[in-house]
This record gives sequence, structure tokens and C-alpha cells, in this order.
Amino acid sequence: MSKVYLLGAGPGDPGLLTIKAKEILEKADVVVYDYLANKAFLRYARPDAEIIYVGKKGGDHTLPQDQINQLLVEKVKAGKVVARLKGGDPYVFGRGAEEAEELLDAGAAFETVPGVTSAVAAPAYAGIPLTHRQYASSVSFITGHEDPTKPDSVHNWESLAKGTSTLVFFMGVKNLPDISQNLITAGMDPTTPAALVRWGTTCRQQTLVADIGSIADAAAAAGMKPPALLVVGHVVSLRDRLAWFEEKPLLGKGIVVTRARQQASGLVATLTELGACVYEFPTIEIAPLSDYGPVRDAIDRLDCYDWIIFTSVNGVKYFFDEMEIMEKDARSLAGKMIAAIGPATANELRARGIRPDFIPEKYVAESVVEGLLALHVAGKRVLIPRALKAREILPNELRRAGADVEVLSVYETTLANQDTDEVLAALKNGEIHYVTFTSSSTVDNFFEKIPTDVLKAAKGTVKLATIGPVTAQTLSRHGFDSDLSPEEFTIPALVQALVNDAS
Ligand code: SAH
Repeated sequence: MSKVYLLGAGPGDPGLLTIKAKEILEKADVVVYDYLANKAFLRYARPDAEIIYVGKKGGDHTLPQDQINQLLVEKVKAGKVVARLKGGDPYVFGRGAEEAEELLDAGAAFETVPGVTSAVAAPAYAGIPLTHRQYASSVSFITGHEDPTKPDSVHNWESLAKGTSTLVFFMGVKNLPDISQNLITAGMDPTTPAALVRWGTTCRQQTLVADIGSIADAAAAAGMKPPALLVVGHVVSLRDRLAWFEEKPLLGKGIVVTRARQQASGLVATLTELGACVYEFPTIEIAPLSDYGPVRDAIDRLDCYDWIIFTSVNGVKYFFDEMEIMEKDARSLAGKMIAAIGPATANELRARGIRPDFIPEKYVAESVVEGLLALHVAGKRVLIPRALKAREILPNELRRAGADVEVLSVYETTLANQDTDEVLAALKNGEIHYVTFTSSSTVDNFFEKIPTDVLKAAKGTVKLATIGPVTAQTLSRHGFDSDLSPEEFTIPALVQALVNDAS
């Protein structure tokens, strides 16, 4: 059934998309989106969906409204399911009604899916409730960008200025001096509190509070730019107590995550939850080997090992996948001592019914060796499933201590085929505050992609965070010191180090 869905994309926080809008995005043949609709939602679209950007940033209309309307009609007439994604709510200063009418005129079917309007969400994230029994019994949504061709103001400034309504102005940054002047001339007390909320609900949210009498000057001084909402009324004073979003410790911090995409989701989610603007920049890709013969061979001979030492989550995954293919399971490891080099690796084993016998206190090879020796690994037969390219220190040290060590590659890490434009631009624009490195290969591969002089030039604002001393050493081989390194060599500790540094 061909149809155009006018979808509210919400104010920016990807969590504020409705479930209904997501479901329609997942089935659409064509997705048409504009400047204010979060690009992150495109990942819900089908891989074969046609994606069309129609712009609309202040004056720079990538596609004029009549051509957008035409495009929608054309696509729906061609039998497509079209998702027309619009920032906030499609019918709140979104010209959604015009698009709907045009579709009706053309005899095309449409539905509207309301979205969370920025007028409600941005103030809520800034700690400003729009109504309150003490302060405001109604709300007005007002355009601050009147049609420039209109000779007289459409607004009744007297009633706006003298009512008990909370006023929310859209698109008002440019006309801020006129808006505040009109309100005061019409009788509003110049000391009435007001707030400008920019990029509300996103990691770039910024709020400026001032009296309506001085907010235009304050905004100019602070260089406030669109998109922002102006909220006027006594409810603004509640922000002192109710602000919560801007308390997030990493709000506005641009953080590059270089881990492999398969491993990055936990770190990305945590940093985002803490307010960071996360740049996913996977430098490595986890890939299967071309030949699993040796792995199968080792699994066939499992009986002959006393110890199996897993050094990474992927090592566990690929080893068990191969066991699965060979129709074996955890019971094949009965009687063996099992070590996990870090807490995440240990959890991956637990998920497969194995409780590791040994988890080192510190997560580097050196301290692993110490702990294993205490468990009498000397003289024992040890299997280490791991990446094709890995440090030799663990096997070498164990051999030196008299263990009979066999290293088994179960996967490999390769240079990720990742586009560099976004991160390069962000580095040059000073939008990156931290780059995180979670292994030596993320460092080496990062510099395969990003020239050292780009990073050098950005060093005034950018700090480099490494998970542990080995990764830091690799970084120094590229000519950079690690600015941040956690006490414990784990992802949660790395996050904590970022939070401590940012606060
Ligand atoms: N339909 C949208 C509004 C589109 S008009 C909605 O319901 O939110 C564009 C104006 O909306 C911008 O100029 C700005 O005033 C406001 N706006 C949209 N998203 C915003 C955000 N995340 N933070 C602050 N203002 C926003």
C-alpha cells in the first residue's frame, strides 16, 4: 500500500522517537528527512531504502517546500511507502499540514505520526516545566520568525505580554531583540525570567537564562545561534532545582571511540548516557580466519591441555563457535583449568556456563603470569586461543616459567574500512575533546587513518585516553603521550577516568 507517513522525529535525543515512527522507518521504501531530524534514525531504514536529504537549515533550503511536496507525490505515485521524517512534531511549525494537503490534492494516501515536539522536550531537559500550578496555567507556542512578507505582526503582543501563559517561541534567535522589545512595550515586566535552549535534548544542549529585558544582549554576547527555543515566564525559575540533563558529567564532550564496531556498543551507550557526543570511529574489524583447520585440530585434542587461557571476549566467541560447529559444548572443557584475562572475558565465559578458575587482579600480561604461577601452571600444558596478531609476552613468560604453551589463533583483527570525513572535520573544528584507545591495534590503525599532524594541530583541545600501559606505549611510538589512563585496565575504569577528568 503506497502511502506517505509524516513522521515526527522528536527533538534530537534518539530515545525520543516513537515506537510507531521506528516501525514505519523499518518498512519504508523511501526515507525523506531534513536538518532537524536526527540522522541516527537512518540506521532503522532498510538497507535498500532510498534515502533523500531535503535540508532546511535556516536560510539554506536544500530543496524548496514546493519541490519537497512534489517529491513526496512523485514517490507515492510510484507505489512507494514513504517515510517523511520531520524534526519534533510534523504539525508544530513543521509545515506538515501543507505536505498533507498537497498529498490529498494529488489523490495520495497519507498518515501522520505525531512526534515529541522540541517545545515540550527541550525545556523539560533544561529543567523548565511548561505549566505549574503556581506559575503558569497555559502555554503558547509562537513563531518567532513571522512571514517577512506580512506588513503587520500577526501576534497579539498585549495578550501575550499580560497573560499568565508560558510563552515558547520557535525560530526566534534572529528576531530576539524584536521579540523582547515587543513584549516589554506591550506591558511585560522586563524582569520576567526567560531562557534560550539550544539543541535541546542532544549532547550539544546549551541553556542561557536571563530576564526578558536583557536576554537579547546576553544571547548576542554568548554567540547563541539557532536552533533554539525561547521560553518566557516564571516557570523558568524552576530550572534552578529541576535542571538534570545539563548536570551530566560528559555533556557536550566530543569523544572518539576507536574500538571495533562489534565491541563498541557498551562503551558508546555508557558515554552517551553520560552526555557525551560520541563519534563511532571503529579502527579495527574483528574477522574470522580463512582456515579453521588448526582450531578444529586443537578442539579434537582438548584432552591433552591442563589450562586454557582466554585473553579476549572474541577469543571466547570464536573458540566456542568452532566447538559448536563440531557439535561439542562446555562439557568438553570438563576438568580443565580456565583463565580469563579480564572481567568482560570472564562474563563471556560465564554466559557459556564456565566459571573461570582464575581472573587476574590487573589486566595486563605481566600480572597474569604472576597469578598463574601461583596456581602452579609451571610444567602444565597450556592452550591460549587469541587473535592472530597479539603480543608474545604472555606465552613467552609462561614458557620461561616452564609451562608447555600452545598459541592458537581463533580470529584476526584487520584495519576497518571506516570513513574518516566526520572525525577529521570534527578534529579540525575543535569538537573532539577525547580520543579513546582500548588496545594497541586501535592506536596503530587510528594513525593509519588520521595523519599525525591533524592530531598534533588539535592537541590544544584533544586529550588522548588509553586503557592501559601497553596501549600508552604504542601511542608514544607514534609520538604522543597518553593524557589519561585508568587505575584498573578496564572499560568502566576508562569511563570513570574520563568523567574525573571532565569534572
Ligand atoms: N516541528 C518542530 C519545529 C520545527 S521549527 C518541533 O515540533 O519541534 C524549527 C525550530 O524548532 C527551530 O528554529 C527551533 O526554534 C526549534 N527547535 C527544533 N528542535 C530544537 C531543539 N532540539 N532544541 C531547541 N530548539 C529546537
